[in-house]
Amino acid sequence: QKGQIRVQTENIFPIIKKFLYSDHEIFLRELVSNAIDATQKLKTLSSIGEAKGELNDLRIDVVLDVNAKTLSIIDKGIGMTAEEVDKYLNQLAFSGAEEFLNKYKDANIIGHFGLGFYSAFMVSSKVEVFTKSFREGAKGVYWSCDGSPEFELYEIDKEDRGTKIVLHINEESEEFVDAYRIRGILTKFCKFLPVPIYFSEENGREEEKDKELEEQPINNPNPIWVKKPSELTKEDYENFYRELYPAGETPLFWIHLNVDYPFNLTGILYFPKIKQSYEIQKDKIQLYSNQVFVTDEVKDIVPEFLMLLHGIIDSPDIPLNVSRSYLQGDPNVRKINAHITKKVADKLDEIFRNDRPSFEAKWESLGLFVKYGMMTDDKFQEKANKFVLLQDVADSKFYTLDEFKAATDATQKNKDGKTVIIYTTDPVQQDAYIKAAQAKDYKVVKLETLIDSAFINNMEMKWDSVHFVRVDSDIADNLVDVQEHTNSILSTEEEEKLKGLFGFQVPDLTVKVEVKGLSAEAAPVIATRPEFVRRMKDMAGM
Ligand code: ADP
Ligand code: MG
Repeated sequence: QKGQIRVQTENIFPIIKKFLYSDHEIFLRELVSNAIDATQKLKTLSSIGEAKGELNDLRIDVVLDVNAKTLSIIDKGIGMTAEEVDKYLNQLAFSGAEEFLNKYKDANIIGHFGLGFYSAFMVSSKVEVFTKSFREGAKGVYWSCDGSPEFELYEIDKEDRGTKIVLHINEESEEFVDAYRIRGILTKFCKFLPVPIYFSEENGREEEKDKELEEQPINNPNPIWVKKPSELTKEDYENFYRELYPAGETPLFWIHLNVDYPFNLTGILYFPKIKQSYEIQKDKIQLYSNQVFVTDEVKDIVPEFLMLLHGIIDSPDIPLNVSRSYLQGDPNVRKINAHITKKVADKLDEIFRNDRPSFEAKWESLGLFVKYGMMTDDKFQEKANKFVLLQDVADSKFYTLDEFKAATDATQKNKDGKTVIIYTTDPVQQDAYIKAAQAKDYKVVKLETLIDSAFINNMEMKWDSVHFVRVDSDIADNLVDVQEHTNSILSTEEEEKLKGLFGFQVPDLTVKVEVKGLSAEAAPVIATRPEFVRRMKDMAGM
């Protein structure tokens, strides 16, 4: 037998109410998004002459009435006729946005699924809609529904074009009868929506009312990432950074993303100033879809190492309402990910080539991104090989990998022909070793931040032509012209005595001596830990 699955609305409705979104506060994002869509549609229709008359002051109002326990969302957008209300609100999952998009391609419309409106029922015992279409001669329409599959729909007198949605907040959702809470949700999700949104409170306790705040829209309808980079100044970028992170220091530089093929992506990524890896604050990138905030948990969406960046990514191709596990597998998300990595690498390369002094001056912060990126992303590493820097502890001069190889070509190669990068993790503590190495004409570079030990391990595997050696280790092993040579500062007797006193074997003081034009006697200074031994001998009174 063949047939059609039948859906019983009475059963489906409570399920939607409960499970549509795990986060109930989302209802406000959905309803404001619809108000924005209605306003944007009107602009589109007006611009092509299909909507006549003045648009007037296009704004959205969110009004909380504490006594009546209602929350209203009011727009001056296209509104709906009775037929449209019946079509869009009485039919689940019939998305007018989808239909409109198909008809008028480039319109910036948020909705897609045709379910957002129903999220109102997650928090409402009753939803009322007062609406009037932009069409000439349209009549006002009233619709209401208490969350059962029954609704009321009739004509009313309504003067102005647009839609007012009144939510009667239900008992379990009283948390939303709170101006502070509503303002918080609006600021979180609607901060950069493209139409001014005003929040006000009716019947609120007088002393809590803040008239001045109410006269300001809660959003910035023209965030700079949607503008052309050529229209923007350095100040614009820095001011926007401050708008996002009021407490943040001026960023080092930024990348303005602007792609429209093969996917849509805009946004600004800032490189913050960072001195040590423990200062890193992740989750500073916010993800938007057509200026609607989606999440600030961008893990899986941007490459791991770019989570160190700050800023905004906006892509209508990133779905609004899906889970993170879905995002991971989403082909657009993967493409976006690759694109951002490439952009960041290109930007760094550009600064490096055009303004090396400034690149070097910022290396303290930049090094962290670059190294982290090289460790976690092979494509990035390929590009970064050209601009990753090594800093000589002697004169603070910076070398690229190639420059370092060239500069040490005659002096610092091991028997496999690999360039030996001698590094210090602590220029103060290891001073004696550094001096000794320098006396032998070796260059010692600083690799002293928290990330460096991981970086060294990682590059040891990835860079075929390089071998890393810590300045206070057995460097002799790794350099050319090595002669095995045994030498010891301690006699066997002394060694035994120390072992007896301290209860452990002093480190192996037998050294292999590197002899490159140097006397064998000079070598142990590098290869053993003479200070340590001396101190132990002091303590033992030897
Ligand atoms: P979506 O936004 O994904 O299309 P919704 O369930 O949020 O789905 O809304 C369903 C439809 O109802 C919308 O596509 C739109 O046609 C209509 N609608 C909802 N809110 C408004 C509004 N404020 N003004 C005009 N039409 C609206
Ligand atoms: Mg919607």
